[in-house]
Amino acid sequence: MNLLVDLQREHNLSYLLIAHNLATVRYMCHTVGVMYLGRIVESGYTDPLFDNPLHPYTKALISAALPSHPDIVREEIILPGEVPSPIDPPEGCTFNPRCPLKIGQVCEDLVPVLAEEERGHHVSCHLFETSVKAARERGGVAADAWADQIAAAPREITHTVDVTGA
Ligand code: SF4
Repeated sequence: MNLLVDLQREHNLSYLLIAHNLATVRYMCHTVGVMYLGRIVESGYTDPLFDNPLHPYTKALISAALPSHPDIVREEIILPGEVPSPIDPPEGCTFNPRCPLKIGQVCEDLVPVLAEEERGHHVSCHLFETSVKAARERGGVAADAWADQIAAAPREITHTVDVTGA
């Protein structure tokens, strides 16, 4: 990895790294795209994305990664169920059957759109106004019907278990 980073600096190279190891991603990459069932659900500059993940799937991924030190105690988000088949994905948000923050019917009916929530930080989730707005504009779907549901939805995942890095 160090050799690749050195070569990148010396020759101003670009890499496309596809990996499940988040420590490697954080070390190697300037920008990150998080994929679920073949779609990017969140993207942005590496450090802001790791420090403040927005999408519930990204939060679960990062919570499950090994901490950098065995004494670090963290809470892991356990996702229910299995990843669905990509040839027959769920309607609406493809993450909705497993999402710990699923709002309700809106997540089954309306496909969220990847939209910029913070500068350079994009997310595809109805918990974020920019994504709902983009979905409404693109699909002409009456997302207003779910406005109260969306506004009242919790933003923090509470189904976690205590784990240590040991
Ligand atoms: S759109 Fe709904 S189901 Fe999908 S990630 Fe957001 S809250 Fe969860």
